[in-house]
Amino acid sequence: MLSTLYGKTRAKYKVNLLNFVEEPKQRTYDTTLEERAIEFHGHDGPYMVIGLRMGLTALELLDCKGWFDLECEVRLKWNPPDSCVIDGIQSSTGCTMGKKNIRVVEKQGIMAIFRSGENEFILILKPDVISKIKRKMVGEDIPHELIEELKVADSDELFEMSLSTDSNS
Ligand SMILES: [Zn+2]
Repeated sequence: MLSTLYGKTRAKYKVNLLNFVEEPKQRTYDTTLEERAIEFHGHDGPYMVIGLRMGLTALELLDCKGWFDLECEVRLKWNPPDSCVIDGIQSSTGCTMGKKNIRVVEKQGIMAIFRSGENEFILILKPDVISKIKRKMVGEDIPHELIEELKVADSDELFEMSLSTDSNS
């Protein structure tokens, strides 16, 4: 009796247990995205904005839906504030630690490698942008102006980017 009931319950939930998101991840920077990221991470900041921008650029360039159809390797100094980038990437792309489609490698600089199918997209935060952030993030002052600048800057002002497509296979 119990097993029948259990069997029925399992059968019933098999269909919608995973409840996959249908809408693709948004690819534009707006306050909704920003608020969701702040709620997830706990605060705003230049590194968070960089992570969001990296993720959005990757979704666009690799033409991904997000969550499952791409993976990311982030290379940076794995300590805040630099590592706040990771949560920006997780928020914008849906690549998450829990799904194991994002990983972090301890390195100098800030770089993200996205892979989707046969395509690989590399973004490197330009050294002059890193210096600028470091200069403005001294003491307790929140660099609001810089944060606003990073939100709207052209991607190629922020990143060195390269896309490679392996069409040999
Ligand atoms: Zn942070």
